[in-house]
Amino acid sequence: STFAEIDLGEALSLNIQRCKYVKPTPIQRHAIPIVLAGRDLMACAQTGSGKTAAFCFPIISGIMRGQYVQRPRGRTAYPLALILSPTRELSIQIHEEARKFSYQTGVKTVVAYGGAPITQQLRELERGVDILVATPGRLVDLLERARVSLQMIKYLALDEADRMLDMGFEPQIRKIVEQMGMPPRGLRQTMLFSATFPKEIQRLASDFLSNYIYLTV
Ligand code: AMP
Repeated sequence: STFAEIDLGEALSLNIQRCKYVKPTPIQRHAIPIVLAGRDLMACAQTGSGKTAAFCFPIISGIMRGQYVQRPRGRTAYPLALILSPTRELSIQIHEEARKFSYQTGVKTVVAYGGAPITQQLRELERGVDILVATPGRLVDLLERARVSLQMIKYLALDEADRMLDMGFEPQIRKIVEQMGMPPRGLRQTMLFSATFPKEIQRLASDFLSNYIYLTV
């Protein structure tokens, strides 16, 4: 199968062609239709499997085609999608991938991570954001400053969830998910990606996902 057979919308399909992605990797082939169909997903995926595109493509496609109510103006940003990742390096990598594929789709991506000055990130957020890629600690900071609201989150992706727990981010992750409201149209969709599935990850999945599909490739 090829990406041309998956209906992701014209602008995103063009970007996929431009980036010379022709054949979906196994995780992409299975995960993308599941998310496009509106389901929650728990996926076992290693680095190098193509997991970034597996969650970015349906998110970009969904936002491109979704009809969203007007977001409030002001200093608080209201992203429609949140991608949580354990480290600054991984967040930057995801952001770059997401930005490449959202070219000319009208979907705006911003990245926020700790260990760097917050000022530039605040300025970026003020200009508007659809997809926010963030590390948990920095996002809690932004929420406490009321510079980000998660009330309109339609897509939540947790990347390398096992690593986030190993790094001690579980309290921050729970705090973040507790702040999500009901999205204006339809339900929120959650995707959890992890290389391993210990009890702690299974507990996160049963707390955050509903009626999900478990995928292992
Ligand atoms: P990831 O596992 O998401 O970190 O992706 C690993 C690498 O594979 C990245 O450099 C991607 O740009 C690349 N990649 C992901 N999916 C595809 C695909 N379907 N075709 C070609 N390259 C891909």
